[in-house]
Amino acid sequence: MGVRYLPSLIMSYLPSGVGKRNMIKIGILALQGDFDEHQKMLDGLGINTIQVRKSNQLTNLDGLIIPGGESTTMGKLATDFQLMEDLRTFAMRHAVWGTCAGAILLSKNSGHVQPLLGVMDITTARNAFGRQVESFEIDLNVPALKVVDPSDAPFPAIFIRAPLIETTGPGVEILAYINDDQVVAVREDQWLATSFHPELSTDNRFHRYFLEMIQSK
Ligand code: GLN
Repeated sequence: MGVRYLPSLIMSYLPSGVGKRNMIKIGILALQGDFDEHQKMLDGLGINTIQVRKSNQLTNLDGLIIPGGESTTMGKLATDFQLMEDLRTFAMRHAVWGTCAGAILLSKNSGHVQPLLGVMDITTARNAFGRQVESFEIDLNVPALKVVDPSDAPFPAIFIRAPLIETTGPGVEILAYINDDQVVAVREDQWLATSFHPELSTDNRFHRYFLEMIQSK
């Protein structure tokens, strides 16, 4: 084995996050919902994180995650805390990933009157897969995850009162379908939206995909 391979060999033996990745800092909107689970997932990847509750916590971030929870509550709290406009401004320049309620907040229309960031050219249909008791886990094919893991293994997707991504604009890339033709994961420029909750699984590939979006821009 030639010496020139040594640096990458060393990198592969270091704990995840040591090296380029630990330069990155990700905010997690922490008004309501399962922000702790996202933080734990990123902690496991060695990423610096901060729970965001105030506008000034958006400074010096490379990206933001809007967690699952209740989109109406999160939107109302963000409005009350005067965060909506700053979140929108942040989203125009940075990577943002919304899971479930977070995906609804990123969409331009949810079919309801509620505060939305409305940056993504998608419409969502809330609670399209039934109520809390009808929560389920299903394996999805997500070919885009091959950028972080060549195995192309199915992704264990957890749906809890999940929205369907009902319409997608021309600039939106569809990453995953359920039931053959129903859209549940999309990317548009620096934005990522998933109807389901990767943060509740033990599979960190979507988190790594989001980090890859940030690093490759
Ligand atoms: N049904 C919720 C909403 O409309 C989303 C549920 C979730 O995030 N798990 O906001």
